[in-house]
Amino acid sequence: MIKTDVIIIGGGATGCGIARDLALRGIPHCLIEKGDFAAGATGACHGLLHSGGRYVVTDPIAARECYDENMILRRIGEKCVEQTGGLFVRLPGDSKRFREIFLRGCEEAGIPAEVISSTKAIDLVPNLNPEIEEAVKVPDCSIDPFRLCMLNIRTSQLREGLIFTRHKVTEIVKSHGRCIGIKATDQATGEEREIRGNIIVNATGAWANMIASLAGCEVPMTLAKGSLVITNHRLTNMVINRLRPPSDGDIIVPNEAVCLAGTTSLAVENPDKISIESPEVDTIISEAGRMIPHFNNTRIIRAFSGVRPLLKSKKIDAHEISRGFQIIDHQNGMYSIVGGKLTTFRLMAEKMVDVIMASFKLKKACETAEIPLDGQEELSGYPLSKRLANMKNIVCECELVNRNEVQRIINETGTRNVGDIQHRTRLGMGPCQGGFCTFRALGIMNDMSVISPEQSMEMLRGFLQRRFRGIRYALWGDQLREEQLVEYIYLGILAMEKPQ
Ligand SMILES: Cc1cc2nc3c(=O)[nH]c(=O)nc-3n(C[C@H](O)[C@H](O)[C@H](O)COP(=O)(O)OP(=O)(O)OC[C@H]3O[C@@H](n4cnc5c(N)ncnc54)[C@H](O)[C@@H]3O)c2cc1C
Repeated sequence: MIKTDVIIIGGGATGCGIARDLALRGIPHCLIEKGDFAAGATGACHGLLHSGGRYVVTDPIAARECYDENMILRRIGEKCVEQTGGLFVRLPGDSKRFREIFLRGCEEAGIPAEVISSTKAIDLVPNLNPEIEEAVKVPDCSIDPFRLCMLNIRTSQLREGLIFTRHKVTEIVKSHGRCIGIKATDQATGEEREIRGNIIVNATGAWANMIASLAGCEVPMTLAKGSLVITNHRLTNMVINRLRPPSDGDIIVPNEAVCLAGTTSLAVENPDKISIESPEVDTIISEAGRMIPHFNNTRIIRAFSGVRPLLKSKKIDAHEISRGFQIIDHQNGMYSIVGGKLTTFRLMAEKMVDVIMASFKLKKACETAEIPLDGQEELSGYPLSKRLANMKNIVCECELVNRNEVQRIINETGTRNVGDIQHRTRLGMGPCQGGFCTFRALGIMNDMSVISPEQSMEMLRGFLQRRFRGIRYALWGDQLREEQLVEYIYLGILAMEKPQ
């Protein structure tokens, strides 16, 4: 049995941020995540490092928090933040009154906002709709959520933090009414692991109430599903927002070679039972197309969705629910931390660890806002230009991932799951969506004796099913043609349709 001081459940941005903060304050800890890092909302988000502009009207406190954190993350995480800048564009018919409220809100929150003419906006982003009335320039950025989690975890690993991914917490161990540990099941082997700790932090986002209920507690939340689509091109180098009250399909974020557009907001009951609906995809494409008309005829390579863990509210429209966060002391050794944004994860972690330090009666101030994220220099393979210099033994042509890179990740992580390679290299994230590279990566895992041929076949089947869940909403034009080719290869040549 493992013993530690703090057990963190959840390896999204919040959990990984807490692990980093605890590591820097010298507190032994252990993080348990049921999938890979960023398996929940963190990996399913837009990747917008908010300037705060989006919330100045609905939630000025969250807006200011976003702005402050944006400035901090640019400093400490320069290798995973792209300082794109952002525009809020006003289209014909969009309310002028909202524009006034928006500008006043930015001023009151201290968020720099510069009104620019449509001509100047189009100079900055030539693909913009030529009919826009004007734009407001704000300091939005693009951030890679997968890299962000891994860099936070790096600090924990360097300071003896214990990390278990692909371990699902199934039980909270209690003694005399206090939470004293957890039991988790290894998702690959089925083995059970017991970990004891003095404090348990429930950082499981949309799953927080499920974990709390294992300890006989409750976390009141509103779960709001949001969907996004990805284009195979970078249609803008700046973040584009619509200058109107937050609603569906009003943000486009560039990330590496692609763009993410969304999102939607639909109430859901269970974060494990979500699916994308075709009308959501249609809405996103048509709304994004109003800001960037090319969106209507650009290849969409996939759609996906995630669930926002919002604080419980009586408001019916989830767009209006606060993006603030809350730490709940369950008075039994367990804390839950919910709400917030990816942008504010560091602040959330700081406040959570302040509470933990106070309960341990220890005094060491938070340093996460000053010390740059560990491991940024070693970030392999990013950006694409760096990969071009190393074109031998390419495994994934779309994202230029080579064999050495795949082998390195397998050696470093000991993974038996192809998804882990994907999250660390972008393998399979390009237009073919893994159609041509997944079986090669599995072949390498097989060559390295990490998995057996039977396991690799099973994994390939599972992968193809998961892949199709996202691709099926983008099946027209070139994406459909490519999918048919992939289908002929897997079903026609490789006879993958039935388990043998
Ligand atoms: C569509 C969409 C777009 C968004 N866009 C943005 C954006 O652009 N910018 C921004 O700032 N914010 C954005 N957000 C909000 C942001 O993604 C979330 O607020 C943030 O990522 C939450 O992080 P988290 O770590 O608290 O939760 P999560 O990332 O959901 O992490 C919780 C983790 O707990 C794990 N877990 C659950 N149950 C168990 C268990 N039993 N055992 C072990 N582990 C478990 C899950 O696998 C998961 O990895 C968006 C959200 C959505 C849904």
